[in-house]
Amino acid sequence: MSEIGSETNPLRVAIVGAGPAGFYTAERLFKEKNIFVTVDMYDRLPTPFGLVRNGVAPDHQKIKSVTKIFDRLAQKPEFRFFGNVELGSDVTVEDLRNYYHQIVYTVGAQTDHNLDIPGIDLKNSHPATEFVAWYNGHPDFRDYVFDLSQERVAVIGIGNVAVDVARILCRTRDELMETDIADYALEQLTNSNVKEVIMLGRRGPAQAAFTPPEAKELGEMAGADAVVLPEEAELDPLSQASLADADRGTMRNIEIIQELAHRGLSGKPKKLTIRFLVSPTELISNEAGEVVAMRMVKNELYQTESGTMRPRATDQIEEVPVGLVFRSIGYRGLPIPGVPFHERWGVILNEKGRVLDSESKEPVLGEYTAGWIKRGPSGVIGTNKPDAVETAECMLADLAEGKTLTPAHPEREAVTAFVESRKPTYVSYADWLKLDELEIAIGAEQGRPRVKFTRVADMLKALGKA
Ligand code: NAP
Repeated sequence: MSEIGSETNPLRVAIVGAGPAGFYTAERLFKEKNIFVTVDMYDRLPTPFGLVRNGVAPDHQKIKSVTKIFDRLAQKPEFRFFGNVELGSDVTVEDLRNYYHQIVYTVGAQTDHNLDIPGIDLKNSHPATEFVAWYNGHPDFRDYVFDLSQERVAVIGIGNVAVDVARILCRTRDELMETDIADYALEQLTNSNVKEVIMLGRRGPAQAAFTPPEAKELGEMAGADAVVLPEEAELDPLSQASLADADRGTMRNIEIIQELAHRGLSGKPKKLTIRFLVSPTELISNEAGEVVAMRMVKNELYQTESGTMRPRATDQIEEVPVGLVFRSIGYRGLPIPGVPFHERWGVILNEKGRVLDSESKEPVLGEYTAGWIKRGPSGVIGTNKPDAVETAECMLADLAEGKTLTPAHPEREAVTAFVESRKPTYVSYADWLKLDELEIAIGAEQGRPRVKFTRVADMLKALGKA
């Protein structure tokens, strides 16, 4: 047989996970001159785009336009999508080795970091990741229940996900109508009783994890005033001293926070309070086991030897009544059966995207990773591009050295028959485009960008696959 990567024997790549990291990996591989590549992209959901569809806040429609780039890639005859096919249950890594020269895992970080405090598992205390998936219409989460009859909500953490959650809780119906938020979430949020959202940062304004555009947006909501306590907007002496080395983002965050601290309330129906230097220590319940209050401790900062500012508890305790709590302290990857995993970091064990054997720490032949499951849950969508390029370039370098798998069935047609045998209701890219068209058409009737299908059964029914 001719060389792998030639026109008659293209490099056959399986990418598992149809989010940005997967598409950017495919993009880089397709760009390589003189190497013929075919990509089959798998996803456990019938819909592509991962967190762009199920994570990016619905009121950030512009960010979602990145899917146009992915759409163009998907039109290439060398690209195929096998949606509604789960690695681990419908197909295994061993199966993929039978059909591909290289396999790339781009499955993202599918769970959250837990917060180890008493009461965290009480009724009405949830991971923010579940709420985000719920309001975005993720089929696995659409039936989750969040008690929006509560008046006060705490969001623990001040990263961009916490900001998204706080903002969505504060949005007016008119604001939400301009989004593709799941239709049930639109109704429930519109009828919610939420009057105040409290976001908790364990460190100070100079260490906030949110980015300036997101912070600024909090001060521009139609139906909610964003407030900061003036004493918490002031920098502590250590942070003040570190400003000389601060980047532009930090300086801008401080500016925005101090502006909010001096602005005061304007009488909007909802209030978002952003707190600094506080850590929850306990959630307190009523007899029904529901959260009714949160105990928290005031922190002070200290500097570690490496120069990082860390929070340390003081003896000042405070209790605030809250009826609903979302913890938003970071996502975390889950292991894939048969793929080496770094438990503590929550990522696939890898070096520059080459999967490493757990024992020998040597590269596993033909297996790669990119995105959050490679580097952890950091950065914006665009961060995945250089990350995926690094992985794809390792793949191409290994190909040049003849380091690929030797699949028993490298023919493209063999895969279709195989997937069909395992998952007759798999969804192709052409199928997805039909769903996309339907969602947009239903959205247009309501003056919204789209109304999402949120049940797999409904998607399959619409495609005549039920
Ligand atoms: P993140 O940016 O890592 O923020 C995590 C937050 O949780 C930080 O405020 C962190 O505080 C806090 N935290 C961690 N452990 C804690 C603890 N034990 N107690 C209290 N607070 C704790 O994570 P994320 O918000 O999940 O976002 C993930 C990535 O997606 C980020 O890179 C983010 O920028 C990106 N994203 C971007 C957008 C956007 O561009 N609009 C939207 C959503 C997400 P410390 O800083 O003190 O550790």
